[in-house]
Amino acid sequence: MYDPKSLKAEEFIDNGEILDTLRYADENKDNTELIEKILAKAEERKGLTHREASVLLACEDEKLINRMYDLAEQIKKDFYGNRIVMFAPLYLSNYCVNGCLYCPYHLKNTHISRKKLTQQEVKNEVIALQDMGHKRLAIEAGEDPVNNPIEYILDCINTIYSIKHKNGAIRRVNVNIAATTVENYRKLHEAGIGTYILFQETYHKESYERLHPTGPKHNYAYHTEAMDRAMEGGIDDVGLGVLFGLEMYRYEFAGLLMHAEHLEAVHGVGPHTISVPRVKRADDIDPDEFDGGIDDDTFAKICALIRISVPYTGMIISTRESKAVREKVIRLGVSQISGASRTSVGGYAEEEDEDDNSAQFDVSDKRTLDEVVRWLMELGYIPSFCTACYREGRTGDRFMSLCKSGQIQNCCHPNALMTLKEYLVDYASPETRKLGEELIEKELENIPKEKVRNIAKERVVKIEEGIRDFRF
Ligand code: SAM
Repeated sequence: MYDPKSLKAEEFIDNGEILDTLRYADENKDNTELIEKILAKAEERKGLTHREASVLLACEDEKLINRMYDLAEQIKKDFYGNRIVMFAPLYLSNYCVNGCLYCPYHLKNTHISRKKLTQQEVKNEVIALQDMGHKRLAIEAGEDPVNNPIEYILDCINTIYSIKHKNGAIRRVNVNIAATTVENYRKLHEAGIGTYILFQETYHKESYERLHPTGPKHNYAYHTEAMDRAMEGGIDDVGLGVLFGLEMYRYEFAGLLMHAEHLEAVHGVGPHTISVPRVKRADDIDPDEFDGGIDDDTFAKICALIRISVPYTGMIISTRESKAVREKVIRLGVSQISGASRTSVGGYAEEEDEDDNSAQFDVSDKRTLDEVVRWLMELGYIPSFCTACYREGRTGDRFMSLCKSGQIQNCCHPNALMTLKEYLVDYASPETRKLGEELIEKELENIPKEKVRNIAKERVVKIEEGIRDFRF
């Protein structure tokens, strides 16, 4: 029944295969010889299968777990250097016809305020985001064919790309909207989106149907097969994710890797990103009501194992997590983080309103973007506002092969430094700017190719003089 090449959800995420995998992992969790072998394979940086990775997840030996962490850290450095890409979510509308039990936007929630941004309000939000320094957004919306049809989403994307406020610009719009048709994915592709992101929530079909009792999202196959339709519609970069906390994490972890293997098997390109959200408290949602809650150590282990199992994928963590958790998992493999996020509709431009209960979930990391940028630099990372890859056509398998061969470093490192320089000149506080200038000076010397190094140095001076948007 299990067939990674099948286009049927229940065949590429086969329940029997996951249960077998978990059994195999349990049987081998103390099998040091096998674990050593798996770790040796992981060291080759070619990834692991869901079975191999599940054995590592089941292993409880502290020494071996520490080796997994060290390896994850090293692989992260090899593929992503010390760069962390910054983004912000932008909530367009919280109208929703679904009945998701973990989400406060569910249809039956009658006391949450429902809002949908007008194009003028989108503009206000984007200006507020540009004024913070953001260049990359992930747009979010509930599913509602009447209030948020695809035309509305496309209008918003056009508005976002059209706004040039002072030196600001949103250069990449990623999209996190409900599963849709090939035709609609084609429209999103033509509108110039970056990654199409859709969280599976849970790979466990029965739980999925119980957690999504009503609305179009109830259809497990339609949701699970969405990435195949997105790719058919021309979208090269897709982002997977599980909402950890709903179901047993070991089941989700195996399902997530099987989904990545499926994309690679069918389309020749794995997920561009993997997100690792955990269920959070929100308006009428209590995360403790779900069975699958995981502690911070298990969460860190999952992040590290995703990194070594799918070494080339971007890994995203949002402000659902606290500063302390983010610090831990950035080291273990996360490559993209959001900063200064608002999860309410209109939350960036409007004054904080105590009565506003339109947020999708409580944010744990409430720092400003300037604080997050400074903190990253203090930890030795380069905050990057780079959006060059898809604008230079480095998407899908082109991006993956560059990433797998390590070549991507030749453009990413200088691009990160140049976009950080823009941020420092246009938006940073004096303290952040001072730290950043020192970092750029030092890191420019780490560009291996002399020619690229010299061009990057010249461009950094030109940015100081007011020129923007250089990229390799
Ligand atoms: N409505 C779209 C869909 O159904 O896929 C996507 C947008 S939704 C705004 C983005 C994601 O937020 C969901 O896929 C879900 O995983 C996550 N989410 C919903 N409720 C949450 C909660 N209480 N805590 C944390 N994340 C939550």
